Amino acid sequence: MNQEKTTNHYDNQNIFAKIIQGEIPCHKVYEDDKTLAFMDIMPMATGHVLVIPKCEAVELSTMPNEYLTAVFATAKKVTNALRTALNVQGIVQMQLNHADAGQSVFHYHVHLIPTHIKNLGHTLSNHEAGTTDHEKLAQLAHQIAKHIDN
Ligand code: 5GP
Repeated sequence: MNQEKTTNHYDNQNIFAKIIQGEIPCHKVYEDDKTLAFMDIMPMATGHVLVIPKCEAVELSTMPNEYLTAVFATAKKVTNALRTALNVQGIVQMQLNHADAGQSVFHYHVHLIPTHIKNLGHTLSNHEAGTTDHEKLAQLAHQIAKHIDN
C-alpha cells in the first residue's frame, strides 16, 4: 500500500463507508449526525468499540476538525458507558495512521478497548485476531447503548 493511497485517497467502497450507508450491518452502540459507534467484529477484548466519523477521511491528517471534535465527544460518551455497562475502569484508546502503523481499514476510526494490566502486560488479544461471536456482540452493543448519556 503506497503513501498516497493510504493518506490521501479515500475509497468510498471501504467497509466502514458501507456500514455508514447501511449496506453492511453492524452492532450499533451510538449514532448522531456526525458519528457512529459500533462493536469491532474481531475484538481485542470484550467491549471493543470503534468510533467513526460520517465524513470521507482516511486518517488523522485528513480529518476535518469539526469531525475530530464530534468523534471525541462520542468516544467520551462510549468510554463512560463502557465503564458503567461492563464494570471496567481501564480503557485503551487507539488509532492507527497508515498501513505502516497497522491500519487496515482506510476510514478514520478510534478504537476503545476495555483492559486492565495483568503481570505487567495488557490483557488484550492481538489486533484483528479476536473471534467473532455475533450473538455476544449484539448483547454487548445493547448493554453499552443503554448506558450512553445523550
Ligand atoms: P485498524 O487496523 O484499521 O486500526 O482497525 C480496523 C478494525 O476494524 C479492526 O480492529 C477490525 O477487527 C475491524 N473490522 C474490520 N472489518 C470489520 C467489519 O466488517 N465490521 C466491524 N464491525 N469491524 C471490522
